[in-house]
Amino acid sequence: MSARVLIVDDLYPNVRLLETKLSLEYFDVVVAMNGPDALAICERGACDVVLLDVMMPGMDGFEVCRRLKSNPVTAHLPVVIVTALDQPADRLRGLDAGADDFLTKPIDDTALMTRVRSLVRLKAVSDELRSRVLATRDIGGPDPLALATADSGDGARILLVEDRPGAIDRIATALGERHQVTVETDPHRALVMAPEGGFELALVSLDLEGFDGLRLCSQLRSLERTRSLSLIMIGEMHEKARVTRGLEFGVNDYLLRPIDRNELIARVRTQVRRRRFCETLRGVLQASMEMAITDDLTGLHNRRYLDRQIGTAFGEATHHQKGLACLLLDIDRFKSINDTYGHEAGDEVLRAFAERIRQQVRPIDILARYGGEEIVIVVPGADLPEARAIAERIRERIEVTPFGIMGGAQDISVTVSVGVSVRRPTDTSPADVIKRADAALYRAKSFGRNRVEATAA
Ligand SMILES: [Mg+2]
Repeated sequence: MSARVLIVDDLYPNVRLLETKLSLEYFDVVVAMNGPDALAICERGACDVVLLDVMMPGMDGFEVCRRLKSNPVTAHLPVVIVTALDQPADRLRGLDAGADDFLTKPIDDTALMTRVRSLVRLKAVSDELRSRVLATRDIGGPDPLALATADSGDGARILLVEDRPGAIDRIATALGERHQVTVETDPHRALVMAPEGGFELALVSLDLEGFDGLRLCSQLRSLERTRSLSLIMIGEMHEKARVTRGLEFGVNDYLLRPIDRNELIARVRTQVRRRRFCETLRGVLQASMEMAITDDLTGLHNRRYLDRQIGTAFGEATHHQKGLACLLLDIDRFKSINDTYGHEAGDEVLRAFAERIRQQVRPIDILARYGGEEIVIVVPGADLPEARAIAERIRERIEVTPFGIMGGAQDISVTVSVGVSVRRPTDTSPADVIKRADAALYRAKSFGRNRVEATAA
C-alpha cells in the first residue's frame, strides 16, 4: 500500500537519507524543513503519515506534534517522532505531545518500514470510516469524529501473555497505571480466555517456554471472535525475522527487549485509540443506517425499507414459484381517536398497535409502517388461506383487548381492517400485489370495517 510520507527535519542530509529509503519502498515523499511548513502541509491534507524530528530550531517537534493533535483537521494524522538514541526522556515528552510512535536515530530500516506501513494501514481504515461518517453527519447529535478522536486511550482491558516473572512485573506495572492488565502465562489458556474477557488488546511474548508465541498470534488473528483484537508482539532483538512474519499476517505492532517503558505505553495507547476510533465510527454508521430504515414513532421499519426488501422477496417468490402474501392493515376511525383524546393519545395507540402486530409476525416476514396509521406485512411463502388466517388472528388480537392510554388511565377500543392479497403468476412487480391488498382494504372498510377482505389468487 503506497502513501504520502511527510519528512520533517531541519538538516538536509537527514531528509535525503529518509527520502531515499522511503522512495525505494515506493512511498511518495513530501518534505518540510521547519515546523510551520509541516503544519501547513498537514492542514492541506497533503500527507498520510508524519515523520517528525524533535530537534529543530524555532518550533520543535514536540510543539508541532501538539498542534497537529489539537487541531481537529489534523488530529487523525499518525505522527512518528524521531528522537536521538541517547535521549530516552524525549520519548516521554513525545508521548505527552500525543505522538503515535517513535523511531530513534540512527534509523533502523525494518523499524522504519513497519512503523510507516502499520500506521498507513490503520489510517486507510479510519479514513474510509471517516468519509462514510462525514457523509451521514447531518443526522445531528455530537460530532462523532470529535468524539472518537478525543478518546484518551486509557482504561483498556489488556491481556498479557508472558511467562518471564521480571517482564510480567515491569509490563504490568507500567501499564497498570492506566489500564486493566490480566496476566496469563499459559498460551493455551490465553487462547480460551481471549474471546471471553472483553479485551481490547493482547501483548504476546514470542519466546514463551516451550511454545511459539507467533502461533498464538496467528490463532488469535484467525478466530472470528478475536479477529478485531489489537495484537502487539514482544520479541528479542535477534528475532527480527519472526517479528516481520507476524507483521505480515496482521499483528499490529511489536516491542523489542529490553522494553522501554514509554515506548510500551505509547504503542499500547496508539493501538487502543485506533481500535476505539474505528469502533466508534462503525457504531455511528450502524446507527445511521438503522435510522434511515426505521420509523421513529413505532420503531417498525419504514417505507424505504419495505420498498427495498419487498423487491427481493418478490423476486425470490417469482423465481421459485412460491407464495408471497401482502397484508395491509389500517386502524379503523383513527381520526376520531385523535380528535377525541388528542394526538399524543393517537401516537400511543399507534405504538401499541405496532407492538401487538410485531408479536404476531415471524422474523422472516417484512413488517413496516406504510403510511399514517397503516401497517404492511409481507409474508414470504404464504398462500391465500394462510394469509387470511394470519390477518384474522391479528384482527382479533386488536379487537379483544382495549388499548390503555395516558398511563393506563383510559382504555380505548380499537379495531383494524385488513386487506389481503397474494402474488399472482402474472404479476410483474411487488406493486401489483400491494395494489390488490389496497383494493381489498378499501372493500373491508366499505363493508363495515373490523374485518378481513382478500382478493383471489
Ligand atoms: Mg534536527
